[in-house]
Amino acid sequence: MQRQKLLYKGKAKSVYETEDNDLLILHFRDDTSALDGKRIEQLARKGVVNNRFNAFIMQKLADAGIETHFEEQLSDDEVLVKRLEMIPVECVVRNFAAGSLVRRLGLEEGQELTPPTYELFYKDDGLGDPMVNESISISLGWATDAQLAKMKELSHQVNQVLTALFDAGDLILVDFKLEFGVFHDRIVLGDEFSPDGCRIWDKVTKKKLDKDRFRQSLGDVIEGYEEVAKRIGVPLS
Ligand code: ADP
Ligand code: UDP
Repeated sequence: MQRQKLLYKGKAKSVYETEDNDLLILHFRDDTSALDGKRIEQLARKGVVNNRFNAFIMQKLADAGIETHFEEQLSDDEVLVKRLEMIPVECVVRNFAAGSLVRRLGLEEGQELTPPTYELFYKDDGLGDPMVNESISISLGWATDAQLAKMKELSHQVNQVLTALFDAGDLILVDFKLEFGVFHDRIVLGDEFSPDGCRIWDKVTKKKLDKDRFRQSLGDVIEGYEEVAKRIGVPLS
């Protein structure tokens, strides 16, 4: 399957049409962004690492019965996916407090959240991805009540599967973001799952091994991603 027309160039990935109207190619670039795209840098190997990481995770989720857009890894930095009509809402699950939750409520980073929390954010860089809720999403026509319920159920299911997977590598899954879309009337997990869109800490030292290394200028960003990949068994070459 070959890339055809460029449909969209995002902050980290480019989206291409294919000869099949139901399928797209996502190209994982080395671009790394923070502050809703206001800071962008190139990090060597990121595209390849995230593509391989995402393929591994998507397969684990499919094995657990979660429907995803993943079809096939095409090359080091390209994946073939189902073409979804994306719902413009980011679904965030948190097991421990970090990031915007800490800033918003003045919590201590690392406070355990029992049961895990679930939040929705409107995907709009210009507005800084503001927090929204189910009611707003329904009234603005982004998704139906039933679609939102399915997204919530799937997000918690993903959390269960991945918390166990990371735990086996002596890692803590602190929080993560998912995006869903519609494929022939079904809610399907889209976009990517990689250290760009989640927080992962070493279980013992609490060392950050995710995109916070970039956001907080801690250095060794991709080395952190590769460490996580190695511990959970992602084949990187
Ligand atoms: P952003 O849009 O936040 O800058 P990316 O650089 O990752 O993000 O761009 C990828 C874009 O592709 C995102 O807007 C995402 O919502 C969209 N996308 C991901 N998976 C699919 C899919 N299966 N079908 C259609 N669009 C998708
Ligand atoms: N996240 C993301 N994309 C976004 C916003 C958040 O992938 O546009 C991820 C982020 O990496 C973290 C989780 O969602 O794993 C929760 O992010 P948070 O709300 O704490 O926001 P942040 O601190 O990134 O501003």
